[in-house]
Amino acid sequence: MAGPVRAADVVVVGGGSSGCVVAARLSEDPDRTVVLLESGPGYRSAAECSSVLDYRTLPVGPRSPYGDTYGIELTPGIPSAMVRGHVLGGSGAVNGAYFIRGTAPDFDRWPPSWSYEHVLPFFRALETDVDFEGPMHGATGPVPVRRQPADRLSAVSAAFHLAALDLGFAEEADKNGRDGEGIGPVPLNVGDGRRISTASAYLLPALDRPNLTVDVDSHVVRVLFSGTRAVGVEVDSGGARRAVRADRVVLAAGAVETPVLLMHSGIGPAEHLRDNGIRPVTDAPGVGSDFSDHPEVGLPYRVRAPLSRDATSPVLEAVLNVGQIEIRPYTASFDVLVPGSGQPVPRLGIGVMTPESRGRIRLASPHRRVRPRIEYRYAETDSDRRALRNGVALGVELLRSPAFHSLVEPIWEEVSDNEVRAHLGTSQHLCGSCRMGNSDDAGAVVDERCNVRGIDGLTIADTSVFPVVPSRGPHATAVMVAERVSTFLSG
Ligand SMILES: Cc1cc2nc3c(=O)[nH]c(=O)nc-3n(C[C@H](O)[C@H](O)[C@H](O)COP(=O)(O)OP(=O)(O)OC[C@H]3O[C@@H](n4cnc5c(N)ncnc54)[C@H](O)[C@@H]3O)c2cc1C
Repeated sequence: MAGPVRAADVVVVGGGSSGCVVAARLSEDPDRTVVLLESGPGYRSAAECSSVLDYRTLPVGPRSPYGDTYGIELTPGIPSAMVRGHVLGGSGAVNGAYFIRGTAPDFDRWPPSWSYEHVLPFFRALETDVDFEGPMHGATGPVPVRRQPADRLSAVSAAFHLAALDLGFAEEADKNGRDGEGIGPVPLNVGDGRRISTASAYLLPALDRPNLTVDVDSHVVRVLFSGTRAVGVEVDSGGARRAVRADRVVLAAGAVETPVLLMHSGIGPAEHLRDNGIRPVTDAPGVGSDFSDHPEVGLPYRVRAPLSRDATSPVLEAVLNVGQIEIRPYTASFDVLVPGSGQPVPRLGIGVMTPESRGRIRLASPHRRVRPRIEYRYAETDSDRRALRNGVALGVELLRSPAFHSLVEPIWEEVSDNEVRAHLGTSQHLCGSCRMGNSDDAGAVVDERCNVRGIDGLTIADTSVFPVVPSRGPHATAVMVAERVSTFLSG
Protein backbone atom coordinates (compact mmCIF):
# COMPACT_ATOMS: atom_id res chain seq x y z
CA MET A 1 0.00 0.00 0.00
CA ALA A 2 1.22 3.51 -0.86
CA GLY A 3 1.63 6.11 1.87
CA PRO A 4 2.91 5.99 5.43
CA VAL A 5 1.46 3.80 8.19
CA ARG A 6 0.31 5.50 11.36
CA ALA A 7 -0.43 3.81 14.70
CA ALA A 8 -2.81 4.60 17.57
CA ASP A 9 -4.43 2.83 20.46
CA VAL A 10 -7.89 3.54 19.03
CA VAL A 11 -9.02 4.65 15.59
CA VAL A 12 -12.55 6.10 15.34
CA VAL A 13 -14.12 6.04 11.87
CA GLY A 14 -16.57 8.90 11.31
CA GLY A 15 -16.65 12.22 13.17
CA GLY A 16 -20.44 12.49 13.35
CA SER A 17 -22.93 12.68 16.22
CA SER A 18 -21.49 9.58 17.87
CA GLY A 19 -17.87 9.54 16.68
CA CYS A 20 -17.06 13.02 18.06
CA VAL A 21 -18.26 11.87 21.50
CA VAL A 22 -16.20 8.66 21.44
CA ALA A 23 -13.00 10.40 20.26
CA ALA A 24 -13.36 13.15 22.87
CA ARG A 25 -14.20 10.80 25.75
CA LEU A 26 -11.48 8.24 24.96
CA SER A 27 -8.80 10.92 24.60
CA GLU A 28 -9.55 12.21 28.12
CA ASP A 29 -7.00 9.58 29.19
CA PRO A 30 -3.66 11.17 28.18
CA ASP A 31 -2.06 7.72 27.97
CA ARG A 32 -4.42 6.63 25.17
CA THR A 33 -3.72 7.77 21.61
CA VAL A 34 -6.83 8.33 19.49
CA VAL A 35 -7.12 9.03 15.76
CA LEU A 36 -10.48 10.24 14.40
CA LEU A 37 -11.00 9.94 10.62
CA GLU A 38 -13.84 11.94 9.06
CA SER A 39 -14.61 11.83 5.36
CA GLY A 40 -16.23 15.29 5.25
CA PRO A 41 -14.76 18.74 5.78
CA GLY A 42 -13.87 20.09 9.20
CA TYR A 43 -13.45 23.32 11.10
CA ARG A 44 -11.61 24.35 14.23
CA SER A 45 -13.87 27.13 15.42
CA ALA A 46 -17.41 28.45 15.10
CA ALA A 47 -16.26 31.30 12.85
CA GLU A 48 -15.02 28.87 10.19
CA CYS A 49 -18.33 27.14 9.63
CA SER A 50 -21.34 29.37 10.12
CA SER A 51 -23.94 27.41 8.10
CA VAL A 52 -23.56 24.22 10.16
CA LEU A 53 -24.17 26.35 13.24
CA ASP A 54 -27.30 28.10 11.96
CA TYR A 55 -30.04 26.00 13.57
CA ARG A 56 -32.82 27.82 11.63
CA THR A 57 -32.05 25.92 8.43
CA LEU A 58 -30.76 22.50 7.38
CA PRO A 59 -27.70 22.94 5.12
CA VAL A 60 -28.33 19.81 3.06
CA GLY A 61 -29.71 21.26 -0.19
CA PRO A 62 -28.42 20.10 -3.58
CA ARG A 63 -25.35 22.36 -3.62
CA SER A 64 -24.33 21.95 0.00
CA PRO A 65 -20.88 20.45 0.69
CA TYR A 66 -22.20 19.19 4.04
CA GLY A 67 -24.77 16.63 2.87
CA ASP A 68 -24.33 13.26 1.15
CA THR A 69 -27.44 12.37 -0.84
CA TYR A 70 -28.47 8.75 -1.53
CA GLY A 71 -31.06 7.45 -3.96
CA ILE A 72 -33.51 5.22 -2.09
CA GLU A 73 -36.63 3.17 -2.73
CA LEU A 74 -39.38 4.04 -0.23
CA THR A 75 -41.66 1.23 -1.36
CA PRO A 76 -41.42 -0.78 -4.59
CA GLY A 77 -41.89 1.70 -7.45
CA ILE A 78 -41.45 4.85 -5.35
CA PRO A 79 -37.92 6.24 -5.60
CA SER A 80 -36.82 9.09 -3.39
CA ALA A 81 -33.70 10.51 -1.75
CA MET A 82 -32.25 10.66 1.71
CA VAL A 83 -29.34 12.62 3.07
CA ARG A 84 -26.62 12.15 5.70
CA GLY A 85 -24.39 14.82 7.19
CA HIS A 86 -20.93 14.87 5.59
CA VAL A 87 -18.98 17.20 7.87
CA LEU A 88 -17.45 17.17 11.34
CA GLY A 89 -20.49 16.68 13.60
CA GLY A 90 -22.15 14.46 10.95
CA SER A 91 -25.92 14.41 10.55
CA GLY A 92 -26.23 16.11 13.94
CA ALA A 93 -24.45 19.15 12.49
CA VAL A 94 -27.04 19.62 9.73
CA ASN A 95 -30.26 18.37 11.32
CA GLY A 96 -33.43 19.95 12.71
CA ALA A 97 -31.85 20.45 16.19
CA TYR A 98 -34.77 18.48 17.66
CA PHE A 99 -32.98 16.82 20.58
CA ILE A 100 -35.33 14.44 22.32
CA ARG A 101 -34.76 11.27 24.29
CA GLY A 102 -36.20 7.86 23.48
CA THR A 103 -39.01 6.98 25.91
CA ALA A 104 -38.97 4.28 28.61
CA PRO A 105 -41.07 1.85 26.48
CA ASP A 106 -38.55 2.29 23.63
CA PHE A 107 -35.82 0.78 25.78
CA ASP A 108 -38.03 -2.21 26.66
CA ARG A 109 -37.24 -3.27 23.08
CA TRP A 110 -33.47 -3.12 23.75
CA PRO A 111 -31.46 -5.82 25.60
CA PRO A 112 -32.06 -5.71 29.40
CA SER A 113 -28.70 -4.06 30.11
CA TRP A 114 -30.00 -1.06 28.09
CA SER A 115 -33.23 -0.61 30.09
CA TYR A 116 -34.42 2.95 30.75
CA GLU A 117 -32.91 2.78 34.25
CA HIS A 118 -29.52 1.91 32.71
CA VAL A 119 -29.56 4.65 30.07
CA LEU A 120 -31.08 7.55 32.06
CA PRO A 121 -27.76 8.44 33.81
CA PHE A 122 -26.13 8.83 30.37
CA PHE A 123 -28.98 10.99 29.04
CA ARG A 124 -28.52 13.19 32.11
CA ALA A 125 -24.73 13.30 31.80
CA LEU A 126 -24.72 14.50 28.20
CA GLU A 127 -26.97 17.56 28.69
CA THR A 128 -27.39 20.85 30.44
CA ASP A 129 -31.12 21.46 30.39
CA VAL A 130 -31.66 25.18 30.86
CA ASP A 131 -35.45 24.87 31.35
CA PHE A 132 -35.86 21.86 33.68
CA GLU A 133 -34.00 20.52 36.68
CA GLY A 134 -34.45 17.58 39.04
CA PRO A 135 -33.73 13.86 38.85
CA MET A 136 -34.64 13.53 35.15
CA HIS A 137 -32.29 16.24 33.92
CA GLY A 138 -28.62 17.09 33.66
CA ALA A 139 -27.12 20.40 34.67
CA THR A 140 -23.45 20.03 33.72
CA GLY A 141 -23.30 18.06 30.44
CA PRO A 142 -21.77 19.27 27.17
CA VAL A 143 -25.02 19.63 25.14
CA PRO A 144 -27.28 22.59 26.05
CA VAL A 145 -31.01 21.79 25.77
CA ARG A 146 -33.66 24.50 25.61
CA ARG A 147 -37.13 25.12 24.20
CA GLN A 148 -38.51 28.04 22.20
CA PRO A 149 -40.37 30.33 24.68
CA ALA A 150 -44.17 30.45 24.19
CA ASP A 151 -44.10 34.19 23.42
CA ARG A 152 -41.70 33.65 20.50
CA LEU A 153 -43.54 30.84 18.73
CA SER A 154 -44.01 31.21 14.98
CA ALA A 155 -47.57 31.65 13.70
CA VAL A 156 -47.86 28.00 12.66
CA SER A 157 -46.55 26.59 15.96
CA ALA A 158 -48.84 28.84 18.02
CA ALA A 159 -51.92 27.87 15.99
CA PHE A 160 -50.94 24.20 16.06
CA HIS A 161 -50.54 24.27 19.84
CA LEU A 162 -54.01 25.78 20.28
CA ALA A 163 -55.57 23.43 17.74
CA ALA A 164 -54.18 20.39 19.58
CA LEU A 165 -55.51 21.65 22.92
CA ASP A 166 -58.91 22.34 21.26
CA LEU A 167 -59.03 18.71 20.15
CA GLY A 168 -58.45 17.61 23.74
CA PHE A 169 -54.80 16.58 23.64
CA ALA A 170 -52.78 17.03 26.84
CA GLU A 171 -50.11 19.67 27.28
CA GLU A 172 -46.69 18.02 27.58
CA ALA A 173 -44.29 20.66 28.83
CA ASP A 174 -41.27 18.36 29.11
CA LYS A 175 -40.85 16.01 26.18
CA ASN A 176 -37.69 14.60 27.77
CA GLY A 177 -39.71 12.95 30.53
CA ARG A 178 -40.02 9.20 30.95
CA ASP A 179 -43.00 8.41 28.78
CA GLY A 180 -45.14 11.34 27.77
CA GLU A 181 -47.71 12.13 25.10
CA GLY A 182 -49.42 15.30 23.98
CA ILE A 183 -48.56 18.69 22.57
CA GLY A 184 -45.47 20.46 23.79
CA PRO A 185 -42.32 22.36 22.95
CA VAL A 186 -39.46 20.58 21.21
CA PRO A 187 -36.21 20.23 23.20
CA LEU A 188 -33.49 21.87 21.06
CA ASN A 189 -29.70 21.42 21.12
CA VAL A 190 -29.22 25.14 20.67
CA GLY A 191 -27.02 27.44 22.74
CA ASP A 192 -25.88 31.06 22.29
CA GLY A 193 -27.99 31.24 19.15
CA ARG A 194 -26.18 28.30 17.52
CA ARG A 195 -26.82 24.65 16.71
CA ILE A 196 -24.62 22.70 19.14
CA SER A 197 -23.54 19.47 17.46
CA THR A 198 -21.27 17.00 19.21
CA ALA A 199 -18.41 18.51 17.19
CA SER A 200 -18.95 21.83 18.98
CA ALA A 201 -19.90 20.35 22.35
CA TYR A 202 -17.30 17.57 22.66
CA LEU A 203 -14.62 17.61 19.96
CA LEU A 204 -13.56 21.22 19.40
CA PRO A 205 -12.76 21.73 23.12
CA ALA A 206 -10.52 18.61 22.96
CA LEU A 207 -8.55 19.50 19.82
CA ASP A 208 -5.46 20.69 21.70
CA ARG A 209 -4.86 17.31 23.35
CA PRO A 210 -1.53 15.90 22.13
CA ASN A 211 -2.94 12.34 22.19
CA LEU A 212 -5.87 13.19 19.85
CA THR A 213 -5.47 13.47 16.07
CA VAL A 214 -8.41 14.52 13.91
CA ASP A 215 -8.04 13.99 10.15
CA VAL A 216 -10.85 15.43 8.02
CA ASP A 217 -11.38 14.81 4.28
CA SER A 218 -10.24 11.26 5.10
CA HIS A 219 -12.45 8.49 3.77
CA VAL A 220 -11.99 5.03 5.28
CA VAL A 221 -12.32 2.32 2.63
CA ARG A 222 -12.01 -0.84 4.72
CA VAL A 223 -11.14 -2.38 8.04
CA LEU A 224 -7.88 -4.38 8.13
CA PHE A 225 -7.77 -7.79 9.81
CA SER A 226 -5.26 -10.30 11.04
CA GLY A 227 -7.41 -13.44 10.99
CA THR A 228 -10.55 -12.39 12.86
CA ARG A 229 -8.90 -9.51 14.76
CA ALA A 230 -9.33 -5.93 13.48
CA VAL A 231 -5.91 -4.30 13.39
CA GLY A 232 -6.61 -0.95 11.72
CA VAL A 233 -8.16 0.69 8.68
CA GLU A 234 -7.24 1.77 5.19
CA VAL A 235 -8.02 5.39 4.42
CA ASP A 236 -8.03 7.61 1.31
CA SER A 237 -6.78 11.05 2.16
CA GLY A 238 -5.11 13.82 0.15
CA GLY A 239 -5.03 11.63 -2.97
CA ALA A 240 -3.14 8.80 -1.25
CA ARG A 241 -4.17 5.57 0.41
CA ARG A 242 -2.59 4.73 3.75
CA ALA A 243 -3.10 2.50 6.76
CA VAL A 244 -3.83 3.47 10.33
CA ARG A 245 -2.99 0.58 12.68
CA ALA A 246 -4.80 0.40 16.00
CA ASP A 247 -5.50 -1.97 18.88
CA ARG A 248 -9.18 -1.11 18.57
CA VAL A 249 -11.28 0.11 15.66
CA VAL A 250 -14.50 1.95 16.51
CA LEU A 251 -16.92 2.39 13.61
CA ALA A 252 -19.12 5.49 13.87
CA ALA A 253 -19.77 6.15 10.18
CA GLY A 254 -23.55 6.21 10.70
CA ALA A 255 -26.35 3.75 9.96
CA VAL A 256 -25.76 3.81 6.18
CA GLU A 257 -21.97 3.84 5.88
CA THR A 258 -21.10 1.58 8.85
CA PRO A 259 -22.81 -1.49 7.30
CA VAL A 260 -21.42 -0.55 3.87
CA LEU A 261 -17.90 -0.36 5.31
CA LEU A 262 -18.36 -3.69 7.09
CA MET A 263 -19.52 -5.37 3.88
CA HIS A 264 -16.59 -3.99 1.89
CA SER A 265 -14.35 -5.34 4.67
CA GLY A 266 -15.77 -8.86 4.49
CA ILE A 267 -18.32 -8.74 7.33
CA GLY A 268 -21.86 -9.22 6.11
CA PRO A 269 -24.22 -11.78 4.55
CA ALA A 270 -21.63 -14.23 3.15
CA GLU A 271 -23.49 -15.02 -0.07
CA HIS A 272 -24.05 -11.35 -0.86
CA LEU A 273 -20.36 -10.64 -0.25
CA ARG A 274 -19.28 -13.47 -2.56
CA ASP A 275 -21.71 -12.21 -5.24
CA ASN A 276 -19.74 -8.96 -5.10
CA GLY A 277 -16.35 -10.67 -5.21
CA ILE A 278 -15.58 -9.98 -1.54
CA ARG A 279 -14.06 -12.78 0.57
CA PRO A 280 -16.05 -13.09 3.82
CA VAL A 281 -14.11 -12.69 7.06
CA THR A 282 -17.24 -13.75 8.92
CA ASP A 283 -20.84 -14.43 7.90
CA ALA A 284 -22.97 -11.70 9.52
CA PRO A 285 -26.48 -11.84 7.96
CA GLY A 286 -27.68 -8.90 10.07
CA VAL A 287 -25.34 -6.36 8.48
CA GLY A 288 -27.51 -3.91 6.52
CA SER A 289 -30.66 -5.93 7.31
CA ASP A 290 -33.87 -4.98 9.11
CA PHE A 291 -33.21 -1.27 9.58
CA SER A 292 -36.06 0.96 10.71
CA ASP A 293 -36.93 4.62 10.18
CA HIS A 294 -39.98 6.82 10.60
CA PRO A 295 -42.06 7.16 7.43
CA GLU A 296 -43.30 10.72 7.06
CA VAL A 297 -46.13 12.05 4.93
CA GLY A 298 -45.87 15.73 4.06
CA LEU A 299 -49.47 16.99 4.42
CA PRO A 300 -49.70 20.12 2.25
CA TYR A 301 -51.81 23.16 3.14
CA ARG A 302 -52.68 26.55 1.65
CA VAL A 303 -51.76 29.77 3.39
CA ARG A 304 -54.42 32.49 3.74
CA ALA A 305 -51.95 35.08 5.07
CA PRO A 306 -48.13 35.17 5.13
CA LEU A 307 -46.78 32.95 7.90
CA SER A 308 -44.80 35.00 10.40
CA ARG A 309 -41.63 33.46 11.75
CA ASP A 310 -39.37 34.97 14.39
CA ALA A 311 -35.69 35.56 13.55
CA THR A 312 -34.96 32.97 16.25
CA SER A 313 -37.44 30.36 14.98
CA PRO A 314 -35.96 26.87 14.66
CA VAL A 315 -37.18 24.35 12.06
CA LEU A 316 -39.60 22.83 14.55
CA GLU A 317 -40.82 24.35 17.81
CA ALA A 318 -43.63 22.05 18.94
CA VAL A 319 -44.81 18.52 18.17
CA LEU A 320 -47.84 16.43 19.00
CA ASN A 321 -47.19 12.83 20.04
CA VAL A 322 -50.22 10.59 20.18
CA GLY A 323 -49.93 6.79 20.12
CA GLN A 324 -47.55 5.91 17.32
CA ILE A 325 -48.08 9.24 15.51
CA GLU A 326 -45.97 12.37 15.69
CA ILE A 327 -47.23 15.53 13.96
CA ARG A 328 -44.63 18.18 13.10
CA PRO A 329 -45.74 21.73 12.24
CA TYR A 330 -42.62 22.92 10.42
CA THR A 331 -42.20 26.64 10.95
CA ALA A 332 -41.79 27.41 7.22
CA SER A 333 -41.90 25.69 3.84
CA PHE A 334 -38.91 23.52 2.91
CA ASP A 335 -37.53 25.96 0.33
CA VAL A 336 -36.87 28.22 3.35
CA LEU A 337 -35.79 25.47 5.75
CA VAL A 338 -33.54 23.61 3.28
CA PRO A 339 -32.01 26.27 1.02
CA GLY A 340 -32.03 25.11 -2.59
CA SER A 341 -34.60 22.36 -2.07
CA GLY A 342 -37.24 24.06 -4.23
CA GLN A 343 -40.23 22.94 -2.13
CA PRO A 344 -42.42 26.04 -1.66
CA VAL A 345 -45.62 24.32 -0.42
CA PRO A 346 -45.87 24.38 3.41
CA ARG A 347 -46.59 21.03 5.07
CA LEU A 348 -47.33 19.33 8.34
CA GLY A 349 -45.09 16.32 8.81
CA ILE A 350 -46.98 13.18 9.81
CA GLY A 351 -44.58 10.55 11.19
CA VAL A 352 -45.24 6.95 12.19
CA MET A 353 -42.89 6.46 15.14
CA THR A 354 -43.10 2.70 15.84
CA PRO A 355 -43.39 1.26 12.34
CA GLU A 356 -43.39 -2.50 11.78
CA SER A 357 -41.81 -2.38 8.32
CA ARG A 358 -38.07 -3.02 8.03
CA GLY A 359 -35.65 -1.98 5.31
CA ARG A 360 -32.43 -3.31 3.80
CA ILE A 361 -29.06 -1.93 2.67
CA ARG A 362 -27.02 -3.95 0.17
CA LEU A 363 -23.99 -3.24 -1.98
CA ALA A 364 -24.89 -2.27 -5.53
CA SER A 365 -21.36 -2.93 -6.75
CA PRO A 366 -18.00 -4.18 -5.47
CA HIS A 367 -16.63 -0.67 -6.13
CA ARG A 368 -16.25 1.29 -2.93
CA ARG A 369 -17.46 4.62 -4.28
CA VAL A 370 -20.71 3.27 -5.77
CA ARG A 371 -23.68 4.13 -3.56
CA PRO A 372 -25.44 1.17 -1.90
CA ARG A 373 -28.98 0.01 -2.69
CA ILE A 374 -31.28 1.24 0.09
CA GLU A 375 -34.77 -0.29 0.18
CA TYR A 376 -36.98 1.18 2.88
CA ARG A 377 -39.95 -1.15 2.30
CA TYR A 378 -42.17 1.39 4.07
CA ALA A 379 -45.84 0.69 4.74
CA GLU A 380 -45.52 -3.03 4.07
CA THR A 381 -47.95 -3.99 6.83
CA ASP A 382 -51.65 -3.19 7.27
CA SER A 383 -50.85 -1.68 10.63
CA ASP A 384 -48.30 0.78 9.14
CA ARG A 385 -50.69 1.78 6.33
CA ARG A 386 -53.50 2.31 8.85
CA ALA A 387 -51.23 4.39 11.10
CA LEU A 388 -50.24 6.62 8.15
CA ARG A 389 -53.90 7.12 7.13
CA ASN A 390 -54.98 7.85 10.72
CA GLY A 391 -52.09 10.27 11.22
CA VAL A 392 -52.95 12.15 8.03
CA ALA A 393 -56.64 12.26 9.01
CA LEU A 394 -55.65 13.78 12.37
CA GLY A 395 -53.43 16.30 10.57
CA VAL A 396 -56.37 17.36 8.38
CA GLU A 397 -58.57 17.69 11.49
CA LEU A 398 -55.98 19.92 13.16
CA LEU A 399 -55.72 22.14 10.06
CA ARG A 400 -59.53 22.48 10.03
CA SER A 401 -59.63 23.57 13.68
CA PRO A 402 -60.69 27.20 14.44
CA ALA A 403 -57.18 27.99 15.71
CA PHE A 404 -55.88 27.61 12.14
CA HIS A 405 -58.86 29.20 10.41
CA SER A 406 -57.47 32.69 9.73
CA LEU A 407 -54.06 31.30 8.78
CA VAL A 408 -54.33 28.24 6.55
CA GLU A 409 -56.71 25.80 4.92
CA PRO A 410 -56.14 22.10 4.25
CA ILE A 411 -55.75 20.98 0.65
CA TRP A 412 -56.85 17.40 1.29
CA GLU A 413 -60.41 16.54 2.27
CA GLU A 414 -60.39 12.76 1.86
CA VAL A 415 -57.38 10.64 2.76
CA SER A 416 -56.64 7.66 0.53
CA ASP A 417 -53.72 5.22 0.46
CA ASN A 418 -52.84 6.58 -3.00
CA GLU A 419 -52.51 10.15 -1.74
CA VAL A 420 -50.50 8.94 1.23
CA ARG A 421 -48.15 7.02 -1.09
CA ALA A 422 -47.76 10.04 -3.36
CA HIS A 423 -46.65 12.22 -0.45
CA LEU A 424 -44.59 9.61 1.37
CA GLY A 425 -41.08 10.50 2.46
CA THR A 426 -38.67 9.66 5.22
CA SER A 427 -37.88 11.42 8.50
CA GLN A 428 -34.13 10.75 7.83
CA HIS A 429 -33.93 8.77 11.09
CA LEU A 430 -32.46 5.50 9.74
CA CYS A 431 -31.31 3.20 12.61
CA GLY A 432 -30.64 -0.44 13.35
CA SER A 433 -28.66 -1.56 10.29
CA CYS A 434 -26.15 -3.48 12.50
CA ARG A 435 -28.32 -4.09 15.49
CA MET A 436 -27.34 -5.07 18.99
CA GLY A 437 -28.69 -8.29 20.47
CA ASN A 438 -28.12 -11.48 22.43
CA SER A 439 -26.18 -14.48 21.11
CA ASP A 440 -29.45 -16.31 20.32
CA ASP A 441 -30.42 -13.51 17.87
CA ALA A 442 -28.96 -14.59 14.51
CA GLY A 443 -29.51 -11.08 13.11
CA ALA A 444 -27.59 -9.32 15.88
CA VAL A 445 -24.32 -7.85 14.59
CA VAL A 446 -22.97 -6.54 17.91
CA ASP A 447 -23.27 -7.74 21.50
CA GLU A 448 -24.60 -5.63 24.37
CA ARG A 449 -21.25 -3.84 24.67
CA CYS A 450 -21.43 -3.03 20.96
CA ASN A 451 -18.51 -5.28 19.99
CA VAL A 452 -18.89 -7.00 16.61
CA ARG A 453 -19.70 -10.68 17.12
CA GLY A 454 -17.02 -13.11 15.97
CA ILE A 455 -14.37 -10.37 15.59
CA ASP A 456 -11.87 -9.05 18.14
CA GLY A 457 -10.94 -5.40 18.42
CA LEU A 458 -13.95 -4.03 16.50
CA THR A 459 -16.73 -1.95 18.10
CA ILE A 460 -19.64 0.00 16.59
CA ALA A 461 -20.85 3.19 18.27
CA ASP A 462 -23.55 4.88 16.22
CA THR A 463 -27.24 4.63 15.28
CA SER A 464 -26.65 1.38 13.39
CA VAL A 465 -26.52 -0.58 16.68
CA PHE A 466 -29.98 0.52 17.86
CA PRO A 467 -32.19 -2.60 17.98
CA VAL A 468 -34.93 -0.45 16.45
CA VAL A 469 -35.51 3.23 15.75
CA PRO A 470 -36.75 4.99 18.94
CA SER A 471 -40.26 6.46 18.92
CA ARG A 472 -38.74 9.95 18.93
CA GLY A 473 -35.92 11.57 16.90
CA PRO A 474 -32.72 9.49 17.30
CA HIS A 475 -30.07 12.19 17.78
CA ALA A 476 -30.07 12.38 21.59
CA THR A 477 -30.11 8.57 21.77
CA ALA A 478 -27.09 8.44 19.42
CA VAL A 479 -25.15 10.69 21.82
CA MET A 480 -26.25 8.57 24.80
CA VAL A 481 -25.06 5.37 23.09
CA ALA A 482 -21.71 6.96 22.26
CA GLU A 483 -21.28 8.12 25.86
CA ARG A 484 -22.03 4.62 27.15
CA VAL A 485 -19.83 2.77 24.65
CA SER A 486 -16.99 5.13 25.63
CA THR A 487 -17.32 3.95 29.23
CA PHE A 488 -17.21 0.30 28.05
CA LEU A 489 -14.01 1.01 26.12
CA SER A 490 -12.45 2.92 29.02
CA GLY A 491 -13.18 0.20 31.58
C1 LIG B 1 -31.38 16.29 7.34
C2 LIG B 1 -31.51 15.55 8.63
C3 LIG B 1 -32.36 16.03 9.63
C4 LIG B 1 -32.48 15.33 10.83
N1 LIG B 1 -33.20 15.89 11.85
C5 LIG B 1 -33.15 15.32 13.08
C6 LIG B 1 -33.68 15.99 14.21
O1 LIG B 1 -34.08 17.15 14.15
N2 LIG B 1 -33.69 15.32 15.40
C7 LIG B 1 -33.18 14.06 15.53
O2 LIG B 1 -33.24 13.49 16.63
N3 LIG B 1 -32.61 13.43 14.48
C8 LIG B 1 -32.54 14.06 13.28
N4 LIG B 1 -31.90 13.46 12.23
C9 LIG B 1 -31.24 12.17 12.47
C10 LIG B 1 -29.96 12.31 13.31
O3 LIG B 1 -29.29 13.52 13.01
C11 LIG B 1 -29.07 11.10 13.02
O4 LIG B 1 -29.80 9.92 13.31
C12 LIG B 1 -27.80 11.08 13.86
O5 LIG B 1 -27.14 12.32 13.78
C13 LIG B 1 -26.90 9.97 13.33
O6 LIG B 1 -25.74 9.90 14.12
P1 LIG B 1 -24.58 8.88 13.74
O7 LIG B 1 -23.45 9.14 14.67
O8 LIG B 1 -25.14 7.50 13.67
O9 LIG B 1 -24.16 9.23 12.24
P2 LIG B 1 -23.73 10.62 11.58
O10 LIG B 1 -23.99 11.75 12.51
O11 LIG B 1 -24.36 10.65 10.25
O12 LIG B 1 -22.16 10.50 11.46
C14 LIG B 1 -21.49 9.68 10.53
C15 LIG B 1 -20.20 10.40 10.14
O13 LIG B 1 -19.33 9.48 9.51
C16 LIG B 1 -18.74 10.08 8.38
N5 LIG B 1 -18.39 8.97 7.48
C17 LIG B 1 -19.24 8.20 6.77
N6 LIG B 1 -18.55 7.26 6.10
C18 LIG B 1 -17.25 7.44 6.40
C19 LIG B 1 -16.04 6.77 6.01
N7 LIG B 1 -16.07 5.71 5.20
N8 LIG B 1 -14.84 7.24 6.48
C20 LIG B 1 -14.80 8.31 7.33
N9 LIG B 1 -15.93 8.98 7.73
C21 LIG B 1 -17.13 8.53 7.27
C22 LIG B 1 -19.81 11.02 7.85
O14 LIG B 1 -19.27 12.05 7.04
C23 LIG B 1 -20.43 11.54 9.15
O15 LIG B 1 -19.76 12.70 9.62
C24 LIG B 1 -31.77 14.12 11.02
C25 LIG B 1 -30.92 13.63 10.02
C26 LIG B 1 -30.77 14.34 8.85
C27 LIG B 1 -29.81 13.83 7.81
